[in-house]
Amino acid sequence: SSQRKPFVAGNWKMNGSDELVEAFSSKLASNQAVDIVICPPAVYLSKFSQAAFAIGAQNVSEFASGAHTGEVSLSMIAEAGCKYVILGHSERREAYYESNEVVARKVKAAIAAGLTPILCIGEPLEVRESGQVFDFVKAQLDAVAHECGAHYVKNSVIAYEPIWAIGTGKTASPEQAQEVHAFIRKELAALDVSAAASVRILYGGSVNAANAKELFAKIDIDGGLIGGASLKVEDFTTICQAAS
Ligand code: PEP
Repeated sequence: SSQRKPFVAGNWKMNGSDELVEAFSSKLASNQAVDIVICPPAVYLSKFSQAAFAIGAQNVSEFASGAHTGEVSLSMIAEAGCKYVILGHSERREAYYESNEVVARKVKAAIAAGLTPILCIGEPLEVRESGQVFDFVKAQLDAVAHECGAHYVKNSVIAYEPIWAIGTGKTASPEQAQEVHAFIRKELAALDVSAAASVRILYGGSVNAANAKELFAKIDIDGGLIGGASLKVEDFTTICQAAS
């Protein structure tokens, strides 16, 4: 184990309701041993009523204000109570054409605004099958380093999410995930040795109450980014406990 504090974030995606906000506000207990973050759709950010956990957005504009219909800015999500923002989720990269460069600019803007990015990286199935995972993940990280410089490492949380494991019920094995997490930490160490030793690297992709513990037991897996299983308070609580 490491001295890094475990970190578990729930990505509700485009799910939820006032009722679910209320259920999490009243039932999700804080856990001193784990940093817990809930990332609901933007309209719910300001509706959480207590502080047992932190709040994050699922995306944000790279721009400060102005003619960007449908977008939400960093100052807005900060006012709504966010400390974190998920950036570069594979669903944003694939369905909304967010390039490595766009994601990198968002990371830079988020850090400048005082928020902590939860930077998502990870390969599609064909990249895994062709044995190019490290090159693919390295290119995603390099784009961020190019835009932001080394300082992003100490101001971010990283989430490794192999796309073939997201929402599919097909989890990466703990060994498969650990291999990539160790690679990511090594790449980050080339920018900042001490920040790389302390940055939390989360695994995401079909984590559930049953498989969380063995994933989080790996030395470079510091917690998880949880999609489907973050919609049920009981399951999410179990996953948070598995990280502690
Ligand atoms: C995610 O959306 O980041 C995710 C990991 O989803 P799931 O847990 O449902 O695979």
